[in-house]
Amino acid sequence: MKYESTNNGSLLFPLDSISRRDFMKRVAFVGAAATFTLSTGLKVFETAEAAEKNIQPDSWHLSLCPYCGAGCGLYIGEKAGKVVAVKGADEHPANKGYLCMKGLLLPQILYFKDRLTTPLIKKDGKMKEASWDEAIDLLVSKFKKIIQDNGKDAVAFYESAQLLTEEHYVLNKLAKGCIGTNNVDANARLCMASAVGGMITSLGKDGPPANYSDIELADCFFITGANMAEAHPVLYQRIADYKSRKKSVIVIVVDPRKTITTDIADVHLKLHCGTDIALYNAIAHVLFKEKFVDEAKVASYTNGLEELKLHIEKYTPEYAANITGVKKEDIIKTAMMLGSARAALYFCCMGLNHSSVGVWKNNAIINLCLLTGHIGKPGAGYFSLTGQPNAMGLREAGGLSHLLPGHRLVENEVHRNEIAAIWGVDPKIIAPKPGKNVLDLFRAADKGDIKGLWIIGTNPAVSLTDVNWVIKVLQKIEFLVVQDIYYPTETSKFAHLVLPAAQWAEKLGTFTNSDRTVNLLKAAVKPPAGAKSDLDIFIEVAHKMGYGNYFQFKGPEDVYNEWKRCSKGTDVDVSGITYARLEKQVGIPWPCPSEDHQGTLRRYTHFKFYTPNGKANLLARDHKEPLEVPDSEYPLCLNTGRLFDHWMTLTRTGKIPQLINSSPESYVEIHPDDAQRLAIKSGVHVNVISRRGDVILKAKVTDTVTKGEIFIPFHYGYLYKEKQAANLLTNPAYDPGSKEPEYKACAVKIEKA
Ligand code: SF4
Repeated sequence: MKYESTNNGSLLFPLDSISRRDFMKRVAFVGAAATFTLSTGLKVFETAEAAEKNIQPDSWHLSLCPYCGAGCGLYIGEKAGKVVAVKGADEHPANKGYLCMKGLLLPQILYFKDRLTTPLIKKDGKMKEASWDEAIDLLVSKFKKIIQDNGKDAVAFYESAQLLTEEHYVLNKLAKGCIGTNNVDANARLCMASAVGGMITSLGKDGPPANYSDIELADCFFITGANMAEAHPVLYQRIADYKSRKKSVIVIVVDPRKTITTDIADVHLKLHCGTDIALYNAIAHVLFKEKFVDEAKVASYTNGLEELKLHIEKYTPEYAANITGVKKEDIIKTAMMLGSARAALYFCCMGLNHSSVGVWKNNAIINLCLLTGHIGKPGAGYFSLTGQPNAMGLREAGGLSHLLPGHRLVENEVHRNEIAAIWGVDPKIIAPKPGKNVLDLFRAADKGDIKGLWIIGTNPAVSLTDVNWVIKVLQKIEFLVVQDIYYPTETSKFAHLVLPAAQWAEKLGTFTNSDRTVNLLKAAVKPPAGAKSDLDIFIEVAHKMGYGNYFQFKGPEDVYNEWKRCSKGTDVDVSGITYARLEKQVGIPWPCPSEDHQGTLRRYTHFKFYTPNGKANLLARDHKEPLEVPDSEYPLCLNTGRLFDHWMTLTRTGKIPQLINSSPESYVEIHPDDAQRLAIKSGVHVNVISRRGDVILKAKVTDTVTKGEIFIPFHYGYLYKEKQAANLLTNPAYDPGSKEPEYKACAVKIEKA
């Protein structure tokens, strides 16, 4: 079936005549269609209004897609102060002009009816419009009173990886350097904290070794815990295009489900949920056995080779097959493919991170890169995909409760002194103990220890685990501030104060995408009257709290320049990257220590790592079951994940007709054998129940899942439909190192609704 172009350059899909899976296959290649339209003169995806009135943009503004960490470069078309079009940036190294449907449909997000344009204060249980002065005065007086009565750690900040790096930087300076609390955590904790833990323990530092340009240089892809076709469609398309051009390219996909991504796999290792480490260890076992490991060479750049070799002796393919459900022949075949590959790229995502052993899973996969020498050379390396657009920038600027800017640690006195000197504050203000990670922060609020919470650009009433409990806690908090672009959200309805923020296309700053590439996002239009940029809000609060001396910024570029000073000499050195350069050289990967440096595509090219002796760590990790496994009462394992049409908690994509009509409600995938046992047919509604809550969803009987396991997409909250949020069910247990929750495995049962 071919794509059809409407008179507005958009793409028509006959949704009612095709299955969602067929639709998915087609839209995954929408980038190709967009490229086709470019070559035929239909260069843009216009808004319907622009198309109807034949409006041509007056100006184009460089920006980035604000959704997934693929970080696709684009241009925003502006006419008379309105965004009327968007087009992919051909020269951007991430997407080369391609955008997925979510990116193409971005202009709509600016003009939804529920856009917030005035602060709201809850009075007598009802939200009332308020002035900005009233709103900020209330926030400042409440926070000051809470701090005075209960200490600095009685307030906390929970922010979003969708903010600009400059905004992360300023917020953390305010909290950690002025107020003196490290209780600043972010939804990046829910995203790739375990990957970060894996990289730091194995390689010494955060940040992936490889770059997107390695895609077309690889001859083998090992995609694990990542349904790239739905979660990172443009990157998936790059791999699929490359494979279709170069027949010798091998794709191995590890996933408990059959997905669109597994459709291009030469080998699909359909393992049981949570058994990744056993699989990776067995692959390592075969690599040794079949002499694919050049032991002398590997020992020259790693610690722990002998220990690992001994450790994985028991992980024979037979042993791992019993744990994982993957055939031993497929394990052997995979090891042979990886061992013989000239250059293999290892993409991984939430399938590894959303686990109580997430850090270990990442260690075990990095072991494979190190053993095969697939690191530090073209087309090779471990590559953690970020789920959010600026999770990297957030960590660079110190946006988690244990961090300071430049990948520094609050626990390290030298680091505290370095940052205090740049901030111009007394080093003693920065507390030496990490603040609370988000789940512990909610636990502290539950106990009454945190009384003032400021949530910025995120929706924990849908996105955290065990949201029944999260909602109870939100209702208990003495003073809850929510800063967002729309009202209501599932979270902001519990707020005492709501602040209206500007969003994508309305503010200036930088994002760093999954491959360490720093990008400039320009403001194409002004925010609606009444909404302010997050940066301006933070700075205004800082001034009213009495810290104005430390926040004398003339604008985002001034903030960026101060952040740049913090990065100098660190592994995340951006001191050679300026706004002016980013306008000309679209996307520059750090480290980039000087303005004549082109940026670093690939790290560890000399096999020198950020560890005390310069060698990477091979770490012996054992298989461990998820913390809640099926039993006689709850006999099924729940796995959760993303859909192509949606992003996070639907606050934006849920209001775009083309996307919500394609995936209007949640559902549960059930294996035919389980469905038969429960006498359930596709299309009927069923009640899925865990120890924490229940949801009522339409059943989809399918062998995409394995017997004994079910799948539910996590996007849907209760503003759309009651009882369909997957996180009503999920387990708030977390990885002890990364504190990232175990979203991808908990025990459930199904009953007829
Ligand atoms: Fe690119 Fe991701 Fe945006 Fe799609 S959602 S356009 S893949 S950044």
